[in-house]
Amino acid sequence: MFYTHIILTSLWSWTSLAAPTFQSRDNNSTCRKTSVAILGGGVAGITAAQALSNQSISDFLIIEYNGDIGGRMAHTTFGQDADGNPYVVELGANWVQGLGVEGGPENPVWTFAKQYNVSNTYSDYESILTYNETGPVNYTYLLDDFEDTWSIFEQNAGTLLTENRQDQNMRAGISLAGFKPKNNMAAQAVEWWEWDWETSYSPEESSFIFGITGYNETFYQFSEENNFVVDQRGFNAWLKGVASTYLKPNDTRLLLSTIVTDVAYSDSGVTVTMDDGSCVQADYAICTFSLGVLQNDVVVFEPELPDWKETSIATFQMGTYTKIFMQFNETFWDPDTQFFLYASPTTRGYYPVWQSLSTEGFLPGSNIIFATVVGRESYRIEAQDDETTKAELMEVLREMFPDVDIPEPIAFMYPRWSLTPWSYGSYSNWPPGTTLEAHQNLRANVERLYFAGEHTSAAYYGFLHGAWFEGREAGERIAGQLAKECVNVESGCGYYMSITRIMGRSGFLPAPMLPRHTSSTDRPATRPRPNRLSFIEHGPVDVSRPFQLSQKMDAAFTRSRLVSTE
Ligand SMILES: Cc1cc2nc3c(=O)[nH]c(=O)nc-3n(C[C@H](O)[C@H](O)[C@H](O)COP(=O)(O)OP(=O)(O)OC[C@H]3O[C@@H](n4cnc5c(N)ncnc54)[C@H](O)[C@@H]3O)c2cc1C
Repeated sequence: MFYTHIILTSLWSWTSLAAPTFQSRDNNSTCRKTSVAILGGGVAGITAAQALSNQSISDFLIIEYNGDIGGRMAHTTFGQDADGNPYVVELGANWVQGLGVEGGPENPVWTFAKQYNVSNTYSDYESILTYNETGPVNYTYLLDDFEDTWSIFEQNAGTLLTENRQDQNMRAGISLAGFKPKNNMAAQAVEWWEWDWETSYSPEESSFIFGITGYNETFYQFSEENNFVVDQRGFNAWLKGVASTYLKPNDTRLLLSTIVTDVAYSDSGVTVTMDDGSCVQADYAICTFSLGVLQNDVVVFEPELPDWKETSIATFQMGTYTKIFMQFNETFWDPDTQFFLYASPTTRGYYPVWQSLSTEGFLPGSNIIFATVVGRESYRIEAQDDETTKAELMEVLREMFPDVDIPEPIAFMYPRWSLTPWSYGSYSNWPPGTTLEAHQNLRANVERLYFAGEHTSAAYYGFLHGAWFEGREAGERIAGQLAKECVNVESGCGYYMSITRIMGRSGFLPAPMLPRHTSSTDRPATRPRPNRLSFIEHGPVDVSRPFQLSQKMDAAFTRSRLVSTE
């Protein structure tokens, strides 16, 4: 498979950490033993291990499919500079999203990006030119129209949430607020830029309440800035920095290029089996595999996951976001503009957003531009060959720049996230009509098997920082189980604020958000632990906003979270 090939043959060797080391299992041998098996070495897995390490729990193993850590924060080489040296581009996560403001909470990924000197540039969304099939056409006023509508529909989403009313789809939310693109393809392109580009799903396919909540939790709580990473070590440089604080060079606790095929769990432990027949026996395990991996039945769970867990895995969506990179022998687009928006005359989401890397602050002089598609267009192009896709892109570029004699690209490449066997998609999204209760079932542990990753974050799903918070939470929870107490008293046992703090600040008691199960047999295997009610400070949410969607979310999480400890 193309993408697997890229990752195994490019920059994916991390020489300072270990080559795979695992014990083979034969009929008479036993599995390698550990206290905690961490399945996956992406952001959530590496952060979970750090949380354990911070609690002086060093007996863990991280089991990772790829030859390097980082997971969906993945890069490769592309094209070359004037000296023949390849550029490094990000195939997956590219932005630190929602940085934080002075005195307010800071996105932890931003904290680490600064600590490990990750090169990045502010994304200026005002730096945009708009096009259709006839060339440049200024419809930037539609961006302003959509922004005006946003302030209406976010209020409406808030009303639905606080009044415990039925979720809608985002289409209804946008339409009722007055933005109706219908057959206006420029308006559709603008709507795609504002919605689909972030969520990787259309408004019809997205939850209204939780789509808005997700946005607010990141961009109002931290800040609305997004910084684009262009570090030639790769975005995962910060994660390697974090890992190096607790993993020695060639640490035998990191098993790279090791593929998990079976996970057998019970109330006394978890046995993990690899594709070569080797195995690991752990007291606890944290599964950080993506929602796409869980949905595609590539790992066998024994016993089968309970219905409530299977239902939640099937309910939430795994989106696909595809960047298509092209290098030319010249920069024929405006080198001072960051974004170029194209409205196809026939197809919504047809190569709508183009980003220049040749611009100052990015990879100036690289002559690299890339387009992004998501959702169904991603599925379509990821299933077709490079030449077909390249021809489609060239046709669009020639429409956008009718006065330029555009040469053929000298380099061309795109990943196939929807087909990548260790990810099966890019990041999760919430469908219309879902609930916090349903999401808690996605997040809850089954016996001694815990789950963490961007998809288990109700507040920050889809983001790197969602994976980070969830990895830390799972690591701290298991540290607490091993120590039989809350081991992190100063900061608490989880990252959400205590319910008393929320009540004290907001002055309202939210309606109970505990999962509603009909019988004892379809409940999560775990039960509330009323005495373990501590949650760490995550910093105050922004109370200056007219509607505090996030307050209710925090309170609801805090209450529903009580069901998921052993
Ligand atoms: C194209 C794209 C663009 C994105 N853009 C952004 C962005 O700009 N900003 C942002 O904040 N977020 C972005 N994201 C989302 C972000 O990358 C994810 O939220 C985050 O990386 C998820 O981390 P994780 O640890 O939850 O999962 P993963 O990174 O998927 O980690 C899970 C690990 O498990 C491993 N694994 C899977 N199956 C097996 C198996 N059978 N055996 C062993 N190991 C296995 C995988 O190899 C992987 O390393 C983007 C993602 C993509 C794909």
